[in-house]
Amino acid sequence: MEYIIEMKGISKIYKTGDEDTVALKDVDLEVRRGEFLAIMGPSGSGKSTLMHILGLLDRLTTGRYFLEGRDVSKLRDGGLAGLRNRRFGFVFQQFNLLPRTSVLGNVLLPTIYGRIKNPRSRAIKLIEEVGLGNHINHKSNQLSGGQMQRVAIARALIMDPAIILADEPTGNLDSKRSLEILDIFRRINAGGSTIILITHEEQIARHADRTIRLLDGEIVSIAERVA
Ligand code: ADP
Repeated sequence: MEYIIEMKGISKIYKTGDEDTVALKDVDLEVRRGEFLAIMGPSGSGKSTLMHILGLLDRLTTGRYFLEGRDVSKLRDGGLAGLRNRRFGFVFQQFNLLPRTSVLGNVLLPTIYGRIKNPRSRAIKLIEEVGLGNHINHKSNQLSGGQMQRVAIARALIMDPAIILADEPTGNLDSKRSLEILDIFRRINAGGSTIILITHEEQIARHADRTIRLLDGEIVSIAERVA
């Protein structure tokens, strides 16, 4: 079995004033290459912290993290940033687009920090694949929420990442738009990408291969999808 991600005994402690917050406690997690994993849990249970550590946006306090077999626990900032840009695509609840920039400009943003071949034609192809071929030059603040999230997904895919990390990607969308976004994630997953998605919604998690639940910084259950 090849694991794209292996975490062993991960903990994360935030130092805030004289009180420490233990956001993750001794978490073990293995993710298979090509898996669609959902992360659930109440507010404050550590989901975003786990996502930030997975995506190399933040450092663990103790434990080991192997990404594609490589120990990334002790990489320096430069190494982390490079790896993050090449291996991960991020999708957030608030879309995080540049509002006065075109759809094309938003999708091209990650290519400023890392090179790819023919960025423009690749961006246009991805924009068409998420169904926005007629909106390539629209400014992102002229789009609906569902359209914005589709731009964000195209942006997440531009560097051809191995892993897509999505933090409540449907949290700001109605159920019809949510299912459209979910369909796009399923298509990306069928193409071989690993997807890790935080959600509150059972109807979204139902489509994942596996769902892990966090409570107070610990994994309290891991469930395979019932076929
Ligand atoms: P969730 O995403 O499940 O809502 P978080 O990972 O955001 O949970 O938070 C887990 C715990 O860590 C909470 O108690 C939260 O207050 C705390 N926490 C999160 N981020 C920080 C931070 N930057 N500084 C201090 N405490 C934090």
